[in-house]
Amino acid sequence: MSTTSVPAYAAPAPSAPLERTIIPRRELREGDILIDIKYAGICHSDIHQVRNEWGEGIFPMVPGHEIAGVVAEVGPGVTDFSVGDRVGVGCMVDSCGECVNCRKGEEQYCTAGNIPTYNGIGKDGEPTYGGYSTQVVVDHKFVLRIPHGISLDEAAPLLCAGITTYSPLRHWNAGPGRQVAVLGLGGLGHLAVKIAHAMGAEVTVLSHSEKKREDAAKLGADHYVNTSVEGALEALAGKFDVIVNTVSASLELDAYLATLTVDGAMANVGAPEKPVSLNLFSLIGGRRSLAGSMIGGIRETQEMLDFCAEHGIGAEIELISADRINEAYDRVVASDVRYRFVIDTATI
Ligand code: NAP
Ligand code: ZN
Repeated sequence: MSTTSVPAYAAPAPSAPLERTIIPRRELREGDILIDIKYAGICHSDIHQVRNEWGEGIFPMVPGHEIAGVVAEVGPGVTDFSVGDRVGVGCMVDSCGECVNCRKGEEQYCTAGNIPTYNGIGKDGEPTYGGYSTQVVVDHKFVLRIPHGISLDEAAPLLCAGITTYSPLRHWNAGPGRQVAVLGLGGLGHLAVKIAHAMGAEVTVLSHSEKKREDAAKLGADHYVNTSVEGALEALAGKFDVIVNTVSASLELDAYLATLTVDGAMANVGAPEKPVSLNLFSLIGGRRSLAGSMIGGIRETQEMLDFCAEHGIGAEIELISADRINEAYDRVVASDVRYRFVIDTATI
């Protein structure tokens, strides 16, 4: 297969620091788009995968599934995008296209497995490499339009953190009259707050320190609860219709489940390395649901981008040069990010 070479940042081995390298990108096939990547967000999932916390990864690994850029070239048969269009790519770059879930527009649940933007193997048998790079080639069916109302750097995190929180908020009917709790105020959590607020829900942030109280209010939260304070969760018994759990570490869930109403649901999007524990009576005692949710389909991702543009929602970002990726990883793990690191790919 003919390829071109582009610069990227990669982890050469599990848990190794990321370093500059050169990777291949395929020549444009039927339906492909070449994107000049301008910005790439750093998601906690990048760190989980570089550190093999979700199982054996494929190395060298070029993370990055929050990609914002501009169309540089379109391949044969592409009529829906043109050179210069503002575009994004999220967590997947392909799927079977035929199974029941793909046909419903929920390609993330493709029964054959979606093909992740990195740390995956494409249909051509080659490893996929993500957005910590200057260019990427993606099938047009997995390319999103970034509306003009959002700047590209603040849009990048929407491609994962945005859709991962928008989708469960929609599914569990966040809106006027509904009590929504956002557990964990990081990259996902801060967008969950903005989106749930824009949907009209009453929003409570559950955070494990006092540090983010002022920020939460600025993001649109109505209430803030420091969960490390003795008795804080007990005081919320039976309050929430839905909790979106974005925490990257394993929690004991019982005390959180008790804050749900009868028929309330906890939607887990945080994907910690270790199992969580719970007592089933925490569910039984209120006909409560414990659920999970993975990113969102392409159609819903476009809906989310349009919703965010309409409501003036972008991510709160700290723009960094590529040589600061490793330092940024340590800060994310320490919950010290306000609220998404975004790499300026011009520095790669
Ligand atoms: P992040 O920016 O690191 O945010 C996670 C937040 O969780 C932190 O800011 C912190 O919030 C809280 N937290 C972290 N460690 C904690 C601990 N030991 N105890 C209590 N709270 C803790 O991460 P992210 O990028 O938002 O990602 C969050 C999780 O979602 C990750 O596991 C990621 O892999 C996963 N994810 C899943 C999907 C999906 O499709 N389901 C998509 C993207 C990401 P406070 O300081 O406010 O407590
Ligand atoms: Zn992500």
